[in-house]
Amino acid sequence: MQLTLLGTGCPKVDHKRFGPSNLVKTRKSIVLIDCGSGVTQRLEQAEFSTANIDALFLTHLHSDHVVDLYQLIISSWHSYRTKPWLVYGPKGTKKFLRLIMNAWNDERNQRIKYEKRSSTKAFNIKVKEFSNYGKIKIKDLIIEYFEVDHKPVQYAYGFNFYHNNKKLTISGDTKPCDNLMKYAQLTDVLLHEVFIEDEMKSITKMRSKQTLHNVKNYHTISSVVGKIAKITRCKKLILTHFVPTRFDEKKLMNRVKKDFGKNPIIGKDLMEINI
Ligand SMILES: [Zn+2]
Ligand SMILES: [Zn+2]
Repeated sequence: MQLTLLGTGCPKVDHKRFGPSNLVKTRKSIVLIDCGSGVTQRLEQAEFSTANIDALFLTHLHSDHVVDLYQLIISSWHSYRTKPWLVYGPKGTKKFLRLIMNAWNDERNQRIKYEKRSSTKAFNIKVKEFSNYGKIKIKDLIIEYFEVDHKPVQYAYGFNFYHNNKKLTISGDTKPCDNLMKYAQLTDVLLHEVFIEDEMKSITKMRSKQTLHNVKNYHTISSVVGKIAKITRCKKLILTHFVPTRFDEKKLMNRVKKDFGKNPIIGKDLMEINI
């Protein structure tokens, strides 16, 4: 199983760290997790065609994780996709898809009529919404989904990917929660989000003390993420979804190592990890 980090950033625009998105590939299957800003550009850089993705899994419906969804669909049409899209996401995903497809309806129909491409299957979108826990099989890959705590976001999920006796856990956006620690037990790779608290000092007119407090409160801070990783007994910890996107890497590494006992990997866009 191969994990490619496509975007390791957050809502803040940064050309080195695009919006959150990851790709899991096995011999038979390709699954995309989230589609943050710049996802299609990163897919192109990593040499994956949007025509070949088997399924899209959404952790939650925060804009930084789904903002390029329509771009993904359109790009797959331009890439001669000949199969429908399979989208798995939290409650609300059906409505969200319906609304964005409707927003572009006239423009799309005009293009379809005029450009006369060989297939319109890319616009056939099958959406399945998660319950609180479940398992889904995509060819040779098993995906287990479980709820995480990103309140006030009501529906947010983490995922386990199983292939050839290996396990990959993706935390999604979450504050420290029991479910993550439970389902990530003994995972080979834990890909976890992080909020780097001591890098977020400056108070500008845009960011009040309350903003910082609230944002920090629905994420996992750097002085806690290593402790969580230790509890899960994961073999490898990779950090992603960096808030802020620019920070002292050495300092973060040392801080997390103190709790985890091993060096974490500081994720970077286009990093590939074989599991
Ligand atoms: Zn996010
Ligand atoms: Zn979020």
